[in-house]
Amino acid sequence: MEIKAIRGFNDILPDEIGKWQFVEKTAREVFEGFGFSEIRIPIAERTELFSRGIGEATDIVEKEMYTFADKSGNFLTLRPEATASMARAYLEHQLYSFDPVAKLYCIGPMFRYERPQKGRYRQFYQIDAEVFGVGNPVVDAEVILMLIHFLKRVGLEKLELQINSLGCRDCRPRYRDGLKAYLTEKSFQLCEDCRRRLQANPLRIFDCKVQTCQEAIADAPKVIDFICDECDVHFNRVKEYLGMADLDYILNPRMVRGLDYYTRTAFEVVSYDLGSQNAVTGGGRYDNLFQEIGGLDVPGIGFAIGMERLISLLPKDKEFIRHPDLFIAAPGKETHKEAYRLANQLHIEGIRAEFDYEGKSLKSQMRRADKLKARYVLILGEEELKKGRVVLRNMEDKSQEELPMDNLLNLLKSKIIHD
Ligand code: ATP
Ligand code: MG
Repeated sequence: MEIKAIRGFNDILPDEIGKWQFVEKTAREVFEGFGFSEIRIPIAERTELFSRGIGEATDIVEKEMYTFADKSGNFLTLRPEATASMARAYLEHQLYSFDPVAKLYCIGPMFRYERPQKGRYRQFYQIDAEVFGVGNPVVDAEVILMLIHFLKRVGLEKLELQINSLGCRDCRPRYRDGLKAYLTEKSFQLCEDCRRRLQANPLRIFDCKVQTCQEAIADAPKVIDFICDECDVHFNRVKEYLGMADLDYILNPRMVRGLDYYTRTAFEVVSYDLGSQNAVTGGGRYDNLFQEIGGLDVPGIGFAIGMERLISLLPKDKEFIRHPDLFIAAPGKETHKEAYRLANQLHIEGIRAEFDYEGKSLKSQMRRADKLKARYVLILGEEELKKGRVVLRNMEDKSQEELPMDNLLNLLKSKIIHD
């Protein structure tokens, strides 16, 4: 029986990879320019890092984690997100001892046991950026600015930045109680999941897709009307700094974010081209996360971009596949050896050259060059080779020219690299 990949786990094939590499390269350039450094964290962590960090009453911890016992009986979880691991690494390696401010990013796969569908997978990739150690609202705006700048640099259009404030550990409980009281009256309208959420984490009900739950919550009190004076000042300053950077945003008082650790500023960037899985990226401030995982009191803010959703929005007219720069067509025994020698030299120069390994007919080699969309074809005929001359054909405009064999490498280099 043929073995297939696991449901919700995807291969990223060579004709797609150009997009991924472009997005990753742009992220690195943009983030490094904003002063961020890459960090690589393990794929698996102790389960309690996520259950405590993300919160027990969240979708991720309740039902989406890939958790298993290893051979010594330790419970491990494949990381469902990167923030908690990055915070753990910051504490474990005392990154704050050099400078309390750490600006970090991380690119890699995340794992959540969700129902696979378009835009939702069990292994998916995120680009994550976090700033640890700054509570000042100026950094909230800076992180959002970097995110929007990055999304524009990769070519995304028609995006909407939504922001909200979720309050802090002092004012959110008041809101949670108010919301709970309001929804308890309407609990007959709630689905079974939301009745449970009503007890454990009523804010989660905002994210429920069930129609009657949405109706129940439509006129519910808003967190923004409950936040304390300090949170209000903080949020106003975030908006002021966003304005200074000419960033358009809309206030979305119903956006709550799915992880418990968020406090104050929350944001999402949505694209209506994505259909129902419309969030390309989400993030926010989390001033309690570090304490939840047993560390110091360190404020943090960051975002995670879903790479599959981002890639599905890339401009359709942009070419991401890398074709050969040159195809060496060499139909004879001697010319085949010459093709091998020349290809090796070109490869060392970083020129993407192909030749036919099997020594097929000239016609079939030309067909292959065409199929591979090579920019140039170098024709090495037996007769021409004896005369020390070869033909270079430009496959775009079909022009041809003869080149001398001596100094061929340099001639090709100058043509192909400067083209
Ligand atoms: P959603 O509401 O779509 O479930 P989320 O709030 O769970 O998203 P986050 O934890 O904020 O998502 O993750 C950030 C981003 O990662 C999302 O905006 C989305 O683009 C992407 N993402 C999340 N879960 C998946 C998944 N299962 N498959 C693909 N991308 C995902
Ligand atoms: Mg989710």
